[in-house]
Amino acid sequence: MAHPTATATSAAPAPELRAYYDALFAAFGPQHWWPSSKSGGPFEIIVGAILTQSTAWTNVEKAIVNLRRARVLTPRAIERIPIARLARLIRPSGYFHQKAKKLKAFVRFLRDEHGGSLARMFRTPTAELREQLLAVHGIGPETADSIMLYAGSHPVFVVDAYTRRILFRHALIAEKPTRSLPGSTYEEIRALFESALPHDAQLFNEFHALLVHTGKYFCRPRDPRCDSCPLRAFLPLVAHVPVGRVSGRIDVRLPASK
Ligand code: SF4
Repeated sequence: MAHPTATATSAAPAPELRAYYDALFAAFGPQHWWPSSKSGGPFEIIVGAILTQSTAWTNVEKAIVNLRRARVLTPRAIERIPIARLARLIRPSGYFHQKAKKLKAFVRFLRDEHGGSLARMFRTPTAELREQLLAVHGIGPETADSIMLYAGSHPVFVVDAYTRRILFRHALIAEKPTRSLPGSTYEEIRALFESALPHDAQLFNEFHALLVHTGKYFCRPRDPRCDSCPLRAFLPLVAHVPVGRVSGRIDVRLPASK
């Protein structure tokens, strides 16, 4: 089994990312992610961004239905509700005790720093708001960026496991730290997108959704469907694509495809 090759660097320039987007959009069309007519406004999006950590979205939906039925889907109501009851309501989303604490921490931050106003919070300059959110208990980079992009239309790129896998297989990043490679950090991958693309929240929103679709249905952990994938044309000479049902990753040499 081969290691990721030296073609993967932790901060390779990625001028083709716009072409990736165009190919995915041409193939799959708009994904209609947040905010949508069903997403219930910025606070519900924020709650969803926190609850979706380490769980499937269908579980988050159940938790949100519970919160809505209990009429506690507002920052003030989340502040007032006893934490044990909040945890019970969000139980379907998993890790409900920790997530109840995180929701409480967010609404406390909102009150202390922005007078309880989401509009005021989202008027904060992007870099400053990102720093503030990252200082809140339970909010990491992916959650902070999801909150900023989807609830506040700040132009930040959300990086997730699907993004990482696709970029790694295309030798644009180093997936995990190894002895020979430092591995690409969340911030490096975010910078890759933000330096290659115009700072456009709508574009970032759509691109992330398209990568998730690709990761779910084509770039699967095993048996990736490269032959029918819209990104097939972008595979480099040396890619990190597992073949067959193998338990570990192997690298294969593919014929030049562009
Ligand atoms: S399925 Fe293949 S072509 Fe598509 S993104 Fe993954 S590695 Fe690239």
